[in-house]
Order: sequence, then structure tokens, then C-alpha cells
Amino acid sequence: MAERGVDVLLLSVGADLPYFCGYEAMPLERLTMLVVPRDGAATLVVPRMEAPRVAERPDVFEMRPWDETEDPVAIVAGLAGSASVAAVGDHMWSRFLVELIAAMPRTAWRRGSEVTAPIRSVKSSDEVERLRAAAAAVDRIAGRLQHGEIELVGRTEAEVSAELGRQIIAEGHDRVNFAIVAAGANAASPHHEPGARVIGADEVVLCDFGGTMVGDDGVGYCSDITRCVYTGEPPPEFRELYDVLVEAQEAGVAAAEVGVGAQDVDRAARSIIAAAGYGQHFVHRTGHGIGTEAHEDPYIVEGNVEPLQAGNVFSVEPGIYVPGRWGTRLEDIVAASLAGPDPLNRADHRLAVVA
Ligand code: ZN
Ligand code: ZN
Ligand code: ZN
Repeated sequence: MAERGVDVLLLSVGADLPYFCGYEAMPLERLTMLVVPRDGAATLVVPRMEAPRVAERPDVFEMRPWDETEDPVAIVAGLAGSASVAAVGDHMWSRFLVELIAAMPRTAWRRGSEVTAPIRSVKSSDEVERLRAAAAAVDRIAGRLQHGEIELVGRTEAEVSAELGRQIIAEGHDRVNFAIVAAGANAASPHHEPGARVIGADEVVLCDFGGTMVGDDGVGYCSDITRCVYTGEPPPEFRELYDVLVEAQEAGVAAAEVGVGAQDVDRAARSIIAAAGYGQHFVHRTGHGIGTEAHEDPYIVEGNVEPLQAGNVFSVEPGIYVPGRWGTRLEDIVAASLAGPDPLNRADHRLAVVA
């Protein structure tokens, strides 16, 4: 905060609050807010009815429960005092921000992520191990998918998505964040919503799924993996496309050395896809950071020149999408480390042929 000239940090709903104090705010009309002055003790302003859910940490924050007839915005403004610069959590509801701006008219406002992202994006070895455990859990599901142990043909995308969701929980996650199942031409839409489409023989099935594993400290870490399988022998044209994808994904991972610009990981993957003539079909960035949020800093995208640091954890997930025809993506979570890129996912990269 001192480095960035921030006098007070205000955190409400979103991943910052549990990261720093182990408590996740209910997304409610009642304001919960951690007030962190640059010099001074942090205070958790919390509705009295939610206070029993807070694991008290007197070493980390004081509690200020508020009663139904009190004005929590006035309480926060009082605690924030005469802050000239306040940084407010990126995901806080605008209704509260609008009220805070009115209550603190002489304060300049900045995004909370200016303070929190540089901290959250560098994982400790304990955090990397928690992300590795979450990755291993979805790897086991991917393995079953690749071995034909999750029935596909004859079921709808939505049914398979629900099944993946159940397995995500059974493998130790507390929440399912998403379970994309996209068959055939639907796989050309990167974030396809699984629906009533029945999966047939001889088509690609793209599955991208992940959840959150919450530890004893109340902080959850996310998984995220994409694997494609083919329900029958893939045509040579698809095999070619998939081989290019694997080469691009592995080049992206290999490039993810400490000190390399994030955009250079994107370039390593993208240049292979472009050289094979599919450049216009790779329509998204190569990856995103992952931690207590499924998508967070650092973003692996052209224009992000920030050098990778040991402890950055992010996805490397190039895709090739041919509208009306098919699509494919391969995604692993990778930790940058001084010993080199450390892929947390270990599920097979080869295209599995399932019945
Ligand atoms: Zn995505
Ligand atoms: Zn994914
Ligand atoms: Zn992802």
C-alpha cells in the first residue's frame, strides 16, 4: 500500500477477502467490508447476523458487527478516516461504492487489485501444493474420460456436464465452477453452454471443467483442465489439427520460464498455430492466472510484458475453433518456478478415442 500510495484498502465480496482473512462475504444487500488502513489495525465490518460465521482472527483483524438499523457505509467511512486514496475490491457491488464515494467526498478511488493482485499472483509453496492437489483431482476425472469410463454417446452434453460436476465434488472439491461439454460443431464455441444436444458417434467432445477446494483456513484453490476425446476414429484432418494444438500447448509450457514476459508464452503457442495456417481460428488469449479465483492475474496475452515470477500459476490453453465444423483445446495449469515450468496437470495429451 505504501509503494502504491494507498491509504486504505476496502475489501468486500470477491476472492480478496477470504484470501486475506479467511472469511468469504455473503453477496447481500447488507455490507461486509474489511477496512485495512496502511498504518493501523484491520477491521471487519460485518452484519451482526453473519458474525457467527466468521472465524475470529484477533491477530489479523478486529470485528465490528453492525446492527440492522445502523449505517454500515458510515461505519466504513469513519474507520477509513481521512484517507486521500482508497483502493476498493474490484468485485464490490457498485451500489456500495456509489454510497462510499458520497460518504468520502475528498477521497480518490483506485482498484483494489492494484494492491492485491501482485500479492495474490505470487503463490507460496503451500499454495502451489494446494493447486497441485486440485489439479490431480481433475486429472483423475480426465483420465476416466480418456479411458471411456464416462459414457458419452447417447447422452446429452448437459447430462455429461452434470456427471463431471458430481465427480468434481466426489474428488474433493467443495464447489463446481464450470463443466463445459461441447460436442461436434459446438466445440467451435470456446465457452459453449452444455445443452440438450445428444452426443453422437464420430465426433469431438471438448470437456473443460474445474472447481474449488476449500482448506481448513477457509481459503479455496481452483482447478481448471481441458481435454478432448473423439467418439470413434478421428478423420486425418482432425488428427492434423490436434497434433498442431499439442505442439503449440507444449511450446507454451516450455516457454514459461521465470523472467520471460507473459506475452512470450502466448507467442510461443500462437506462432505454431499460425504457421500451420489456423491463426485466425485461435480466438482467445493463451491463458489466465489461477488461485483463489478461477481467472486472475497474470494473464497470458499479447501486451502483457510483465516477466513471469517464481510462484505465478496460470493456464496454458491454446485452442483451434473452426465454426460450423469442430473445435479443440488443450489446457494445463502450470507453475513458473526457478527449476523451470512445472505443469500441475499430468493427464495424457494424446487424443483419446472412446467408444
Ligand atoms: Zn475459459
Ligand atoms: Zn478451462
Ligand atoms: Zn482456463
